[in-house]
Amino acid sequence: MNVHEYQAKQIFREFGIPVPNGKMCTRDDSVREAAQELGGDTWVVKAQVHAGGRGKGGGVRVVRSLEEAEKAADDILNMRLVTAQTGEEGREVRKVLVEEGVAIQKELYLSMLVDRASNAPVIICSEAGGMEIEEVAAETPEKVLRETVEPNLGLRTYQTRRIAQALGLSGQTVRQAGKMLSNLYRLFQETDASMVEINPLVVTESGDLIALDAKLQFEDNALFRHDEIVALRDIDEEDPLEAQAAELNLSYIRLDGNIGCMVNGAGLAMATMDLIQYVGGSPANFLDVGGGASAASVEKAFRIILADPRVKAILINIFGGIVRCDRVAQGVAEAAGNVDLKVPVVVRLEGTNAEEAREILEASTIDFVVAANLREAAEKVVSAM
Ligand code: GDP
Ligand code: MN
Repeated sequence: MNVHEYQAKQIFREFGIPVPNGKMCTRDDSVREAAQELGGDTWVVKAQVHAGGRGKGGGVRVVRSLEEAEKAADDILNMRLVTAQTGEEGREVRKVLVEEGVAIQKELYLSMLVDRASNAPVIICSEAGGMEIEEVAAETPEKVLRETVEPNLGLRTYQTRRIAQALGLSGQTVRQAGKMLSNLYRLFQETDASMVEINPLVVTESGDLIALDAKLQFEDNALFRHDEIVALRDIDEEDPLEAQAAELNLSYIRLDGNIGCMVNGAGLAMATMDLIQYVGGSPANFLDVGGGASAASVEKAFRIILADPRVKAILINIFGGIVRCDRVAQGVAEAAGNVDLKVPVVVRLEGTNAEEAREILEASTIDFVVAANLREAAEKVVSAM
């Protein structure tokens, strides 16, 4: 689960990690008053969306007067923010963060995530932080340090020293880094975060360390023990179909293609997507209706696929093991009859009662394309488009 920068910074504050003072504003709030309350003579207005690269996309503006702050917020709240992470269609911006400006001496990079290769948290840092970090990592990987934390021992002092050195810190800033790292590690563990990223982490002109940006991601499977984090969820930032599917307990992920897929079992779903690609098609989604898919869940899944306007054909691939094929066919036929079906539907049902299922589909008023095996189904759905 993702949260906004302003929410991540609030959590940082609670764990003693320094961040600039700021205030989140929607279209109904007065940005002028927020800036005035914060005081000073420089402010930063930042788009709050669940996507990075806002700076380059025009979603972060440094301003020097209350008028400018108001104008910047107005511009950002009325733009569709396009960044490297939003896709061409961009994102509507519903919230901005107004912050006191910080005089930057140096921009650093710091992140912490779960490394699957070492089964441990790893801290990644670089002296060359800021908006070009991806290029730094690709072109000069020697400027990036990875420090693996042994979870049973926790973060050791020699490791924080090594990190501070890689960040090029000196004097009292090294001590600040030590404190920040141990607080960050505590945050990471106590909130069941899967990723924390601070880019940039800055050394201010007065030599203090402060998190200028904050990105936090939480492990979905641990959310059951974090009501306070679940409460931060912003449905507006989630794909509406994915949110709807999650409520129905369906594993659904939107992809870029145009063939809607409905499959039972994650492995079979992956294989189906591979095969669609192999025969020249492109899946519009991953959808696992579950090993024991009922007629009702099949109908719901079918509706979610149809609600995606990019879908030009549908492939239903169900193996009847726990579930019986005839029940699935019934669900598919009913769902198809209840909606205004404008795209071809290819169905491959194999397993228990497959023969009865085929009869149900053939008797239906809908013109289903029935396929005998998976390869044929993939070929038929591609040519049906
Ligand atoms: P991102 O592009 O979505 O990662 O947004 P960031 O929060 O990282 O902001 C992008 C860039 O804006 C930073 O790398 C800074 O260079 C700049 N920036 C952000 N806040 C301030 C600030 O308070 N003062 C100044 N001078 N620059 C800032
Ligand atoms: Mn950033």
